[in-house]
Amino acid sequence: MTQSTSATEQSHYRICPLCEACCGLEVRTQGEKIISIRGAEQDVFSHGYICPKGVSLKDLHEDPDRLRTPLIKRDGQFVEASWEEAFAEIHKRLPPLIAAHGADTVGCIVGNPVAHKIGLLAYFPRLVRAIGTRNVFSASSLDQIPKQLSSGLMFGDWNAVAVPDIERSDFMLILGANPMVSNGSLWTVPDYRGKARAMRARGGRIVVVDPRRTETAAQADMHIPIKPGGDAFFLLGLVHTLFAENLVRLGHLETHVAGLEALQQVMLPFSPERMAPGCGIDADTQRHIARELAQAQRAAVYGRIGTCTQRFGTVNSWLIDVLNALTGNLDRAGGAMFTKAAAFATNTSGTPGQGRGVVTGRRHSRVSQAPEVFGEFPITCLAEEIETPGPGQIKALICIGSNPVLSTPQGPRIAKALSSLSFMLSLDIYLNETSRHADVILPGLSPLEDVHYDIAFPQFSYRNHARFSGAVFAKPPGQLEEWQTLLHLADILQGKPEAPLAGPEHGPEALIDQALRAGPYGLTLDQVKAAPGGIDLGALQSRMPEMLRTPSGKIELAPPLVLADLAHVEAALDTVPKGMLLIGRRDVRSGNSWMHNLPVLAKGPERCTLLVHPQDAARLGLTQGALAQLSAQGTTLSAPVDISEDMMPGVVSLPHGWGHDLPGSHLQVAARRPGINLNALLSDGARDPLSGNAVLSGVPVQVSATA
Ligand code: SF4
Repeated sequence: MTQSTSATEQSHYRICPLCEACCGLEVRTQGEKIISIRGAEQDVFSHGYICPKGVSLKDLHEDPDRLRTPLIKRDGQFVEASWEEAFAEIHKRLPPLIAAHGADTVGCIVGNPVAHKIGLLAYFPRLVRAIGTRNVFSASSLDQIPKQLSSGLMFGDWNAVAVPDIERSDFMLILGANPMVSNGSLWTVPDYRGKARAMRARGGRIVVVDPRRTETAAQADMHIPIKPGGDAFFLLGLVHTLFAENLVRLGHLETHVAGLEALQQVMLPFSPERMAPGCGIDADTQRHIARELAQAQRAAVYGRIGTCTQRFGTVNSWLIDVLNALTGNLDRAGGAMFTKAAAFATNTSGTPGQGRGVVTGRRHSRVSQAPEVFGEFPITCLAEEIETPGPGQIKALICIGSNPVLSTPQGPRIAKALSSLSFMLSLDIYLNETSRHADVILPGLSPLEDVHYDIAFPQFSYRNHARFSGAVFAKPPGQLEEWQTLLHLADILQGKPEAPLAGPEHGPEALIDQALRAGPYGLTLDQVKAAPGGIDLGALQSRMPEMLRTPSGKIELAPPLVLADLAHVEAALDTVPKGMLLIGRRDVRSGNSWMHNLPVLAKGPERCTLLVHPQDAARLGLTQGALAQLSAQGTTLSAPVDISEDMMPGVVSLPHGWGHDLPGSHLQVAARRPGINLNALLSDGARDPLSGNAVLSGVPVQVSATA
């Protein structure tokens, strides 16, 4: 929506695509210039909230390093090309590879930004279908797929993720999440800070369990440091306590659950005393938290990336919702609730209350035999699938908004593998550490040149809503929209290179309108467009049992796949890692690897620093600002030390997504302070075997002072 406020200045409403909070922004422009970006007061969901990243959309739009023209590599150098030339090059090189080696020879990988662009998220599956490859990878297996799997197994739908109803809650237990900085993840909650303050002002309590006293923990009522990787032990101690002390109160869920007896039975070995060495939290504290959770009027347990990026990511994610269910807090006001999205939600279509559920392992990766989950293989299998000869070997890659060289364990190995490909195509806005390996790069649009409707995040929102924003600027002449690019690539791979570009009748607006009409509120896109700041669809409502899509029509409290992993949890008690453990962290001015080239976010203190507890610093001879050496997986890197009481002794923290000093990339701002690549220190063989998620947290590392 665009309003003229003077002859030359305009005010545009725009949904921020930079993180899951999806804030509404007001972008003021004068001709082609951006004058200011601020929070949109009229936004029905974010009410004027904005974080520093939102402002950086101006820098992103104006970034001279942002690609605006296709590039083709000729004799090892990228040269600018027309779209026709780029498509011709793809047509010349990709279909013959498929003809010679089969569809699986093409790997497809999508990165986190794809989740924020309807033109990519909704159209990428069509490209995959056109190719027919099984080799699909995404950032999901570095992030949230354990939660999607546990939700799928319990509720029958990958996207049925219960989120805290913070505006009505009295008690929140937060594990491995830092919403003060992130504004939620798998929980779209702009201005978490304001909502947490309001909750505490009305007498609510927030307890944060994290190896670091995060920004969220610092503003909570209680912070409990936990041994990295020990969440399963802590959560099991809580569930055990609920059964042992007769604190289970299913309430309104009584008739909607299955597997309660089996659950009680398998919890018997996990007493808090037994769990304490694994999580570093004493038995009394475990019992205290379990009782507080059980006795709270309305409570929610929420866990995120720290709980997912562990060996027991799926077990953790399951236990969190088991706690919500056993205390009667699942699906009730003030507890952990399910949104009802206006469009694109699979738990509002089909038969209410019953479905096919989810299955994994319909096929397995060729080299590691990792099961397919949610239609994809673990991203940590990518390098071996390129390196290992044989039928189905990946010889070509289509990489969409993804930078695995920096974002995935053993990035240097991936870089080497990429350089061995017969053909690589990147769709990216930058010539970065990964796209430098491509033979052809097709640029995307600036977010301000694109329409926006979130497919995923309204399914995890603290409140129901429908919002759309149009393009602030017209796209440059000749530039393709991402969905057109993907559809045309699909045409090329289906032997129709001469097919005309798809028109607007196939574009996102048509898709959104169709999905809204079919959605539970029967809206139209015109209605949403006509509402300044979107349409508020109200507080979350109880949805049991209509939102369930399990074959039983029940909440499955004891999915066999997860129960089978409990034996491994028990066994892991004997192998709790010793020595220094490495965890990641999120910064309000950074988002994975791709916001480090924006001046407004890059300024200020160095962000790629190693947080170390003072006791560890003294023991290891580390001093503030000096370099520390980190060694793991045969790699040694150096990072500046930041001594912090916020760290748990024995744990160090480094953010991920850094390491912008590789030759051939073109990110001039990021290269000035490149940081180091945390992922080079991580093993690409360490995964949660159920979900395939990489282990990124609680990794043993040797730390020493730099000589
Ligand atoms: S919190 Fe996220 S959505 Fe909101 S302004 Fe910041 S980056 Fe954008």
